[in-house]
Amino acid sequence: MKCCICPRECGADRSSEAGVCGAGEKIKIARAAPHYWEEPCLSGENGSGTVFFSGCNLGCVFCQNYEVSHRAYGMEVSEPHLMRVFDALIEKGVHNLNLVTPTHYVPMLARVLKEYNSPVPVVYNSSGYEKAETLKTLEGLVDIYLPDIKYFDSAPALKYSGAADYFEFASSAVLEMHRQVGTVELDENGIARCGLIIRHMVLPGNISQAVKVFGWVRENLPVETHISVMRQYTPFGKAKEMPPVNRRLSSKEYSIVKEKILAMGFENCYFQSGESAKESFIPDFDLEGVDL
Ligand code: SF4
Repeated sequence: MKCCICPRECGADRSSEAGVCGAGEKIKIARAAPHYWEEPCLSGENGSGTVFFSGCNLGCVFCQNYEVSHRAYGMEVSEPHLMRVFDALIEKGVHNLNLVTPTHYVPMLARVLKEYNSPVPVVYNSSGYEKAETLKTLEGLVDIYLPDIKYFDSAPALKYSGAADYFEFASSAVLEMHRQVGTVELDENGIARCGLIIRHMVLPGNISQAVKVFGWVRENLPVETHISVMRQYTPFGKAKEMPPVNRRLSSKEYSIVKEKILAMGFENCYFQSGESAKESFIPDFDLEGVDL
């Protein structure tokens, strides 16, 4: 059957070929391990149980997980095998199952999650380049949506991700996510039980995107919506030769963005410190937690 589950609508017959996202018929994953550098309500003390899915339907030039996203490095696993991977993470005490870049596997994941019935919240951690109609098939199966909204304008979306229609899809996807899970609810320890958290990584030379993205969020979602304004951008891959994204974000750029966002009146904002580009942990993709 020809695949049209994401906005690329590349029409690949995934039983015999990989799509533009690099994914075939089976789920492929590259790492499953506790991760301590997500937002505090996800990482807590025990970590967020990240499962990195191979391939990506967006393919940004600056991706820090290039081998996994662009080259689809990983190991194919059956659906029962994926459930064993989830079990192993839960045994480690993680606060949630954090599905990283899962968009191109939604039909398989919907089957797995229906059967698995996770004892901890399921986090859907994506680039935001989604079809709302595909997300509808996850209703009741995902507890926490953690999408990026990477761009507001078509020009940077085309330049850095080859997706001029990015915001059109990401904005309706985020509204669908909010319809399903609402705003964040925390437990007595400050760990998220459910809800929507919107991320945006501020890109050097592109701070107007951050201001426009959060301006849209403020107009279209409740004031208590959790937002995460990331400053950890580090040039990787082709981005090293593409000014202005061939450098780190300056402190001045981040301060301007922070001031403008605070002025919008959001009640729940995560900001990052100046050390976050160094601190943020980029894991090794060596099949840890996968090859059980
Ligand atoms: S999920 Fe992959 S195969 Fe399916 S339409 Fe998108 S890019 Fe193509």
